[in-house]
Amino acid sequence: MTYEKVTENVYAITDGSTRGNVAAFVLPSEIIFVDSGMSLPFIRKFREELEKETGKKTSTLVITHTHFDHVAGNQVFKDCRIIASKHTKERMVHSKENDWTPEKFEEWKKTAEDPSALDGFEYVLPTEIFENNIELEDYETKIIIKNTGGHTAGSSYVYYPEAKALIAGDNLFINSFPWAGDQSANPQKWIDTFKEYLSLDVEYFIPGHGPVSTKIEVQEYLDYFDKVVVLMRKMITQGFSEDKIVEKANEVEFHPPKREQWKEMSLKKWHQVLSQK
Ligand SMILES: [Zn+2]
Repeated sequence: MTYEKVTENVYAITDGSTRGNVAAFVLPSEIIFVDSGMSLPFIRKFREELEKETGKKTSTLVITHTHFDHVAGNQVFKDCRIIASKHTKERMVHSKENDWTPEKFEEWKKTAEDPSALDGFEYVLPTEIFENNIELEDYETKIIIKNTGGHTAGSSYVYYPEAKALIAGDNLFINSFPWAGDQSANPQKWIDTFKEYLSLDVEYFIPGHGPVSTKIEVQEYLDYFDKVVVLMRKMITQGFSEDKIVEKANEVEFHPPKREQWKEMSLKKWHQVLSQK
């Protein structure tokens, strides 16, 4: 695991060692982490080293969305505020009671690539929720957290205007096809989110997976989503079958062509949402 200094007061692990990316904003008197990845030893190390390097303490963990590869390390921040959108907390409560019970966790360990990454695991829930957005303040510095939906209904971004940095969670999957298998994924909200990203003064986008990026990559994703959604809406109006629509949408080229095994499943999900009204 190596963490990088993205810009002044912004740090991130984007090398895949924690599965979901983990990032941190250093404010005048405190540190805020965003997402907790899937490796307890690496997250502990990241927190310890950053606190040592900056001489500041961590006050807060913000969760971008409910998926396990973004929340499994929450226990490293048990002494902090843990903030998530209302939707995300609801899904996490459900997940804790159904998907990550101690029995199911033992099952998971049997097939996990590196079960020791979660030795002593405990599912820790958010301690605070917000409905649509919330702002955190530290002296003159402001952090804006906003629930936009897209990848999941609870998906939220964490924006640090002074640093021109935004942590997007899985609304940005840089260098691979954007996984849309979640029950609450919504392509229209995803498009609106990309447009909002482009309207903000941001130079550094930290995605949920992949390297730190710029508005160029956001625009590429927006163009792809736009093409697919326009095509699907048109074909739905014309009365084509799901199979035909997904087949045609599958022909829309996606760049870069990576993790395309997710493509057809994601397109089916988008078709299902778009044909709902
Ligand atoms: Zn996700």
